[in-house]
Amino acid sequence: MGSLGLATINLPKISSPVKKPIVISTWDSGMPVNAEAWKILSNQGKSVDAVEAGAIYIENDINCCVGLGGFPDRDGIVTLDACIMDEKANCGAVAGLEQIKHPISVARKLMETTPHVILVGAGAQQFALENGFKLEEKKLSDDASKAYNQWLIQSKYQPEINIENKKQNGPFAPNFFEDGTANHDTMGLVAMDFNGDLSGAVTTSGMAYKIHGRVGDSPIIGAGLFVDNEIGAATSSGVGEEVIRICGTHLVVEFMRNGYSPEMACKKACERIVKRDPKKAATLQVGFLALNKKGEYGGYAIQKGFVFSVKSNDENEIHSTKFLI
Ligand code: ASP
Repeated sequence: MGSLGLATINLPKISSPVKKPIVISTWDSGMPVNAEAWKILSNQGKSVDAVEAGAIYIENDINCCVGLGGFPDRDGIVTLDACIMDEKANCGAVAGLEQIKHPISVARKLMETTPHVILVGAGAQQFALENGFKLEEKKLSDDASKAYNQWLIQSKYQPEINIENKKQNGPFAPNFFEDGTANHDTMGLVAMDFNGDLSGAVTTSGMAYKIHGRVGDSPIIGAGLFVDNEIGAATSSGVGEEVIRICGTHLVVEFMRNGYSPEMACKKACERIVKRDPKKAATLQVGFLALNKKGEYGGYAIQKGFVFSVKSNDENEIHSTKFLI
């Protein structure tokens, strides 16, 4: 009874409808990736198929720093990292994979046909070949070769904070620059399908000019990608070592579990990195991107310049994130 002795009426709670299907992806290069994923999502397909299709699309793009067209390590070898995770927390990943065009599909094969989660290097390549993937020629793309030769002059490993700002030629310009300074770009995408199921995928050639064998955050579940179908999903881009140190995307999902919006959850993960070593954080970029179970999304970065792409029934856009420094 209410204070006036009147019976309390329990009105039904009004909540905004879940926005689904939806796909969000890192950088402006996510626009065509989303379009590819959307072909599946808009036909009521599964989110895991959609994110794989998006990743395959960009792995095919020889002008992108993802896939075999990407930047090499300091020995001049392109090594690829990828992972995939579905709504049941099934996951698969490959790291340091050479001469295979679609690491994302090798990761999915591993997820679906073996009890394992991660394969690396020669073992990952052997698994790919055993499963019908073709060995590609060991060769740098023209742009990567030009940039690598330029880099060799000084051979200094110094990740650029904000290579995105140096893109001169519009949203879909190739991610290489005359001065050879572009040294990262990772495609991470997370999606919710018509059934409300979440999945994510990440594919990258990793930090340019890394030590041969170095593995970044991208293929590490909980670092470069995490999906919890009850809560949400998150992905990251930027200096992978910093993301690994805080289990970045797992942290973002846990912040969402505690009630934070996707944007706030990403912000809090960025703050965790900066708090650990503010001086160092001022010299590097990390960006997070998250989607929750309601179809709400958001991103945040340490520095200016991180953008992400969104496709749903209502929008098809590139968003800039807020940043800490
Ligand atoms: N996170 C990737 C890595 O550390 C690089 C990137 O996002 O561009 O390998």
